[in-house]
Amino acid sequence: MVSTVQAVVPKKRAFHSTMKALVFRGPNQIVIEEVPIPRPGPGEAVIRVTLTTICGTDLHILKGEYPVKPGLIIGHEPVGIIHELGIGVTGYEVGDRVLVGAITPCGQCSDCLRGDLAQCGGPIGGWRFGNTINGAQAEYLLVPYAQANLAKIPSDLSDEQVVLLADIASTGISAAESADLQIGDSVAVFAQGPIGLCATAGAKLKGASLIIAIESDPFRAQVAKRMGADIVLNHEIVDVVEETRRLTNDRGVDVAIEALGTQHTFENALRVLRAGGTLSSLGVYSEKLSIPLEPFAAGLGNHKIITTLCPGGKQRMERLMKLVRRGRLDLRPLLTHKVPLDCIREAYRLFGDRRDNVIKVAVTPGVV
Ligand SMILES: [Zn+2]
Ligand SMILES: [Zn+2]
Repeated sequence: MVSTVQAVVPKKRAFHSTMKALVFRGPNQIVIEEVPIPRPGPGEAVIRVTLTTICGTDLHILKGEYPVKPGLIIGHEPVGIIHELGIGVTGYEVGDRVLVGAITPCGQCSDCLRGDLAQCGGPIGGWRFGNTINGAQAEYLLVPYAQANLAKIPSDLSDEQVVLLADIASTGISAAESADLQIGDSVAVFAQGPIGLCATAGAKLKGASLIIAIESDPFRAQVAKRMGADIVLNHEIVDVVEETRRLTNDRGVDVAIEALGTQHTFENALRVLRAGGTLSSLGVYSEKLSIPLEPFAAGLGNHKIITTLCPGGKQRMERLMKLVRRGRLDLRPLLTHKVPLDCIREAYRLFGDRRDNVIKVAVTPGVV
């Protein structure tokens, strides 16, 4: 039976040397194109993508706010099936279902060996898919450093259960981890978009006793409660700083998580923080960021400000899948829409305009 499958695959491949992919052609220009299916070099793998999604970062790329080179296939959240393995990749078989993180560290450089996988080879260096190499919004994807980045998916987990672990869940949960959140800590999470919702889930997983989420959208507020928020404050109605201080007996929270990337939310995160507390920043800032002196106690408040880029690599993916498998993390409520790759441009508009209560859109490339 195995040999029959092996005999069929190369024959099929000969007839399918091209694939559909979403190609960035310049600001506000993304096009579905027919491009060659990649072939793996030594240490690489090619997966057939079975599910992917669109990230807020992709919207920044589309608008030209984050520069990538025209001609690049974008997207960085892949689930798929190993289609071809390059020489030197061991412990995997063609046909294995795998999750690949948005961050694909080499596992060998001094940054990786220090444990800073996201900064592999230099600042933001671990983020390759849809940034410096072709990404996941395609039928096939070349995975670099495959040995360090292919995480096998247990057969009892669906693609939908794991796809968000590639990026937003890994990133969101990392806010509480990087802050070294202690059990019983109080936490405020600014903004409940996809990453903020996962940050809320992460604060709960780490044992926070009080999670205050800040969000004005009623649907997102509802999902925030499902992900673990005790209270959701609508910043359009209440003074968030005053109310958070009141909820913490005027002490301030132990950890404030910034999950939007604006001066205003960054500043408010600092204003709700207790002396010696940690501001854990996940946002991507596109303007100059300044620190107000008073809530920063003029630099003498022992505040810690930390930033985290999505942690990647296969071990990270395996750990996150264990949480899903044991019922401690369910991200399916965030997958609000599902579209085929052919309709991905409409999905970008829906996601970008935040229409129809969208949180994340699952994208299914066509089956070969
Ligand atoms: Zn992303
Ligand atoms: Zn590295």
